[in-house]
Amino acid sequence: MGLTSRTLASLASLALLLSASPACSGSGQTSSASAGATESGPATTTGAATGSTDTATESATATSTEGSTGTDTDTTGGDPGQCPGDAPPPATPEPWARGQAPLQGCEVRGVRDYRAIIHLHSPHSHDACDGDPQPGGELDESCLADLRAALCVNRIDVAFLTDHPVHAMEATIEEMVLSRGDDELVRDEEDRVIGNWIRCEGGHRTLIIPGVESGSMMPLGLHAHPPEGTYGESSPDSFAAAKAAGGVAWVAHTEGRDIDELATLGLDGIELYQLHANLDPEIREEDLGLDPNGFLTDVLPFFFPDSDDPPEPDLATTSFVVPNEPSIVALETLGQDQRLTISAGTDAHQNVSAQKTPDGERVDSYRRMIRWFNNRLRIGGELTVASAKAALRQGRNHIVFESFGNPLGFDLFARAGDVITELGAEVELVPGLTIEATLPHLDGRSPQGGEAPELRAVLYRADGEGRSVVGEWSEGTFAYQVDAPGVYRVEVLIRPRHLVPYLGTSAALAEVERVWVYSGAIFVRG
Ligand SMILES: [Zn+2]
Ligand SMILES: [Zn+2]
Repeated sequence: MGLTSRTLASLASLALLLSASPACSGSGQTSSASAGATESGPATTTGAATGSTDTATESATATSTEGSTGTDTDTTGGDPGQCPGDAPPPATPEPWARGQAPLQGCEVRGVRDYRAIIHLHSPHSHDACDGDPQPGGELDESCLADLRAALCVNRIDVAFLTDHPVHAMEATIEEMVLSRGDDELVRDEEDRVIGNWIRCEGGHRTLIIPGVESGSMMPLGLHAHPPEGTYGESSPDSFAAAKAAGGVAWVAHTEGRDIDELATLGLDGIELYQLHANLDPEIREEDLGLDPNGFLTDVLPFFFPDSDDPPEPDLATTSFVVPNEPSIVALETLGQDQRLTISAGTDAHQNVSAQKTPDGERVDSYRRMIRWFNNRLRIGGELTVASAKAALRQGRNHIVFESFGNPLGFDLFARAGDVITELGAEVELVPGLTIEATLPHLDGRSPQGGEAPELRAVLYRADGEGRSVVGEWSEGTFAYQVDAPGVYRVEVLIRPRHLVPYLGTSAALAEVERVWVYSGAIFVRG
């Protein structure tokens, strides 16, 4: 492929735009709308992540009397417990799917996972929607419609919005749930709106839960704004204030944070993977130690093709997804003394490049970025605001790079006799303690053709001395006899050979091994 002047211009603009994207250092705060939040802290249970384990003040109720739960009717008529994704794939590759298949019916040990986006910007962020999210003081409805449609087509079950203080603090939490049309509001016991169900065409529903992202913190699931000044400060007191306002205590962009400082904040979770960090040349070089523009040659054909056989733009992830090593080290270091949940941050703003790609959509469309990867909250019972936040506090999350295909059946837990400790929790090292992990399989409904993907899973243990591989397998379930304390976690790796029919001239990328799944950790204490 020759470098045409257009290609060069595109390369330059993409690099510039990605680096200029003011990522997420939400700046100053202008006003405060403090309200008397009554919730005082995180749930401490290590039981099943059901809504009932969360505090009473956020038992969510809907304003209408019907259909207030998270029942996904996409697969109504199917047998409960029968996963449609276990069916074999079609004989010949189908056209690339712009959206994702329902997860309903695909259970693991009787419990299902819900697709979650954690870290997402709406027109309530100053830098969303090409930097002009509120023309004339009104929300950009077209940009908002893109966001809502993206959640629906990707069948996202729950979206934790994280708008920047500038604009977010001018709005109430009720305004930040983005209710439109026949949406259904969710209220807490003080009658404050804390969530919103979007009804999608075809029966799917997405639960919107607002939060805020500043440079200091990313509280998820707020019932009210905390006192003025809270968002702009990173301290034990400011995080306590965010928790008192209902927030689950989180930080984004972990790769740019000081681990010793994070240890003091009383965090529930950290971002383990962050899209901007992966693409921003400056962050790649300074925080990840990577070639700042190393991915551009591989990524350009996805967005600016110059052949008759271009790759699917949605598969650009096959060219750039790499581990966020500093964030993994943060989990392993902080995890020696505290329990933490992980998340992957989509961090979409629809503000990077409006240029159209061959599929007719802008490079950075909400739909495409939400299609690339998601979080999987494991919840026993109904999806509600409370049960989703309980799963976050308890660590019931794993990260899935779904553009490589939908992984079904992933599992990780510790077992001591009859006692199961789920991923995300702490467990005491006792004789006979095992960690069991199951390799996922590719959903038959995921785009695929030709060869099967090559899979490999690695079980890591990290202690004060560093990280070591304690298990590696490529099929079924692996059981490890635990003999030392530490932070245990699993990575599932994939060579996505099944994607060759969709990779066109970039087919060589199907031989590059990428992470498919990051588990949360199990914290074994000595
Ligand atoms: Zn952000
Ligand atoms: Zn931003």
